Amino acid sequence: MPSPATLAALRAFVEERDWDQFHSPENLAKSISIESGELLECFQWGSDFDQTRVEEELADVVTYCIHLANRIGVDLDEIVLRKLESTREKYPVDQARGRKVKYTQLAAERAGDAERDAQG
Ligand SMILES: [Mg+2]
Repeated sequence: MPSPATLAALRAFVEERDWDQFHSPENLAKSISIESGELLECFQWGSDFDQTRVEEELADVVTYCIHLANRIGVDLDEIVLRKLESTREKYPVDQARGRKVKYTQLAAERAGDAERDAQG
């Protein structure tokens, strides 16, 4: 997902500072959450936002996601596409298109339809 040049730059940054020792999966997961909070803070008082600040906080979130993926040895493209496939199954287009309903409700609707079909 990130380009090889971006990955190399991130690796070099961490190595130069000997920060890999602090990048446990737990610390990186916490950092993703903390930076997500900072991103959310950009919208705390309304929908207006400072583009530069949002870009910086988004970069922080993505950077920690990349570090965590590297740390636990997963390919971001692979896990995102795998999760997308799973989400695709939870949200069938014919049921979910244009609706903001949780997948559990869609599943309940399918179960209700199946029950009605079974009853004739
Ligand atoms: Mg930040």
